[in-house]
Amino acid sequence: MSAGGDTIFGKIIRREIPATIVYESETVLAFRDINPVAPVHIVVIPKKPVVSVAHAEVEDKAILGELLLACGEIARQEGLDSNGYRIVSNIGRDGGQTVFHLHLHLLGGRHINWPPG
Ligand code: 5GP
Repeated sequence: MSAGGDTIFGKIIRREIPATIVYESETVLAFRDINPVAPVHIVVIPKKPVVSVAHAEVEDKAILGELLLACGEIARQEGLDSNGYRIVSNIGRDGGQTVFHLHLHLLGGRHINWPPG
């Protein structure tokens, strides 16, 4: 099962609610997180409503690659290349996922601690 139900991210894709969009391709959309935890905090999503990495299927292989490539491009755009950044995907309850539409968090602009809390 890769298709998810509608979420707040579906509304952003359809422009039903506003978001600060920083990147868009045929398959990927990226926008600034409404509650940023770092100076740069961007949410990178497939337009296809896959629930999480755990729900992705072989047919989603290209989309998964495009998400990571988009992160690299956005990081360059945001000037994060020299100091680095982190890409995170929260999956399910223990992963802390709150929006059930697959997304990567692109975090930068400060040192991101490890391990996460
Ligand atoms: P999760 O907790 O599922 O890994 O991440 C969901 C993220 O989406 C959170 O960081 C949250 O702040 C962000 N978010 C939730 N609703 C909205 C919204 O309406 N607009 C934007 N831009 N971000 C949102």
